[in-house]
Amino acid sequence: MKIAIIGNGILGLMTARAWLRSGINVEISIIGRQSRPGSATRAAAAMLNSFAELEYDSLSTPLDRFKFDLSRAATAAWPAVFEDICPTGGDVTFGFGTYMLNNSATDSLDDDNFNAVREFAAEFAEPCEDVDPRDIPNYHPDPRYRALRALLLKREGWVNPKQFLDALQAKLATNQRVTFIDTEVSKLDMGGGKIRGAELADGSRLEADAFVLANGANLSRLAGELGLPIQRVFYGIGMSIEMQSAENIHTHCVRTTNRGLACGVYSVPYGPDRTLIGASNYISPIPHDHAHVGSAYTLLKAAMDQINNKFYRANLISVNVGWRPTTSDTYPLIGKTSLENLWIIGGTKRDGFHLSPVICADLVTSMQGKSVDERYAQLAPERSLIRNLTREEAISKTVRHQINAAFQHDFSPARNRMLEQLERNIRTDLESLHDRVGAAEWGIPPELTDMYRYHHIPGTA
Ligand SMILES: Cc1cc2nc3c(=O)[nH]c(=O)nc-3n(C[C@H](O)[C@H](O)[C@H](O)COP(=O)(O)OP(=O)(O)OC[C@H]3O[C@@H](n4cnc5c(N)ncnc54)[C@H](O)[C@@H]3O)c2cc1C
Repeated sequence: MKIAIIGNGILGLMTARAWLRSGINVEISIIGRQSRPGSATRAAAAMLNSFAELEYDSLSTPLDRFKFDLSRAATAAWPAVFEDICPTGGDVTFGFGTYMLNNSATDSLDDDNFNAVREFAAEFAEPCEDVDPRDIPNYHPDPRYRALRALLLKREGWVNPKQFLDALQAKLATNQRVTFIDTEVSKLDMGGGKIRGAELADGSRLEADAFVLANGANLSRLAGELGLPIQRVFYGIGMSIEMQSAENIHTHCVRTTNRGLACGVYSVPYGPDRTLIGASNYISPIPHDHAHVGSAYTLLKAAMDQINNKFYRANLISVNVGWRPTTSDTYPLIGKTSLENLWIIGGTKRDGFHLSPVICADLVTSMQGKSVDERYAQLAPERSLIRNLTREEAISKTVRHQINAAFQHDFSPARNRMLEQLERNIRTDLESLHDRVGAAEWGIPPELTDMYRYHHIPGTA
């Protein structure tokens, strides 16, 4: 059996690994430029976070609980993955233990999310303890932004994704059944209810028995031409910054809660004298090779204010920009399409690296015709948009996130009714947007407000 995997990010490579581990005799081609343009994987932290990613309302639906089950299974899976790919550590920097801060850099949304993480950790008996923020190694915030509470999530880790991807690719390449093809797929040739072949950018053509589309935020570029009812995937343009300093060596991941439409600010160990800080998020219908100067300003300032004010004298090594694959309903796309030999894995937004050992293995299991958790059906690539927020929930949540984001971006309201007026204005704007797109019974996910506003996602009006 020949399998073509389109895309060479973490999901493409972990899918190949899962096939090799299945024991079935397959030939695998992985297509993608070695430079990996726009790769989310290479820009990631990559934090292996599960509880640290939770917000106060994260587990309110059965589908969210399913996604969280996958995330917890991934936490359990990572130690064995490291044992397999980089048993001695070698060139791959990774570790476990994430400090979560509750500071006053923005408003009370942080407090609610911090409390929620703590409560969910207790509910699921996750190893976690309260710590005095002053005991966090190399935590030197500006005093005005210091945390008064902190948690240590003991099993939540991180890995340098570039080093890991290299090690994973090197291991896959030692297997004669795996071929890496350094180009892009420019078109999928469909006929007779299946994919007949892939046309490559170098003019050649690749045929296979099964195709896996794992090309990240570019998914709609190929899938869109097939005429299948697959929702649009957007580019969640994110920036992370690599720093070098011998005096600010971070031994653990240090991060805030998720906040204001993004994942907060964090630092992770990235090498013996390297630290990565992240991350920005700007959702766009088109790809951008570079991120905004304003994002770099906010990120550097937040990292110096909230994590380590000595970062000012670290060396700035590089700015990574990657595209988080962000679906029109914010949930991943995993499973078989209505074409008999086309499978999709993608749309994993900001936790795809962490989820990869579990969702890639499950995809391969289902490609073999074996059963997987039946809740995966809800993530089927040709589903209708999942709309599990009510209009009121969505509007209230978006108002909160936008105000929280404003405080993160130096907003300082006048000592009058300015804040209330601003909240009212945002709410009025969102109500009229919901009216315009026909969102009476459902709500627009906060991060996708502008994708609805500018007609990139159709409403129901
Ligand atoms: C700044 C940032 C921080 C993040 N932090 C974390 C984190 O801490 N933890 C976490 O779990 N996740 C994190 N993420 C999210 C995570 O990186 C993604 O969910 C995950 O990497 C998606 O993997 P992928 O393989 O689908 O996509 P990608 O890594 O984008 O890989 C897709 C690959 O396909 C290639 N490709 C595109 N088009 C074609 C084509 N036509 N033919 C062939 N190849 C093609 C691309 O060049 C790319 O190499 C972060 C993302 C960003 C941007």
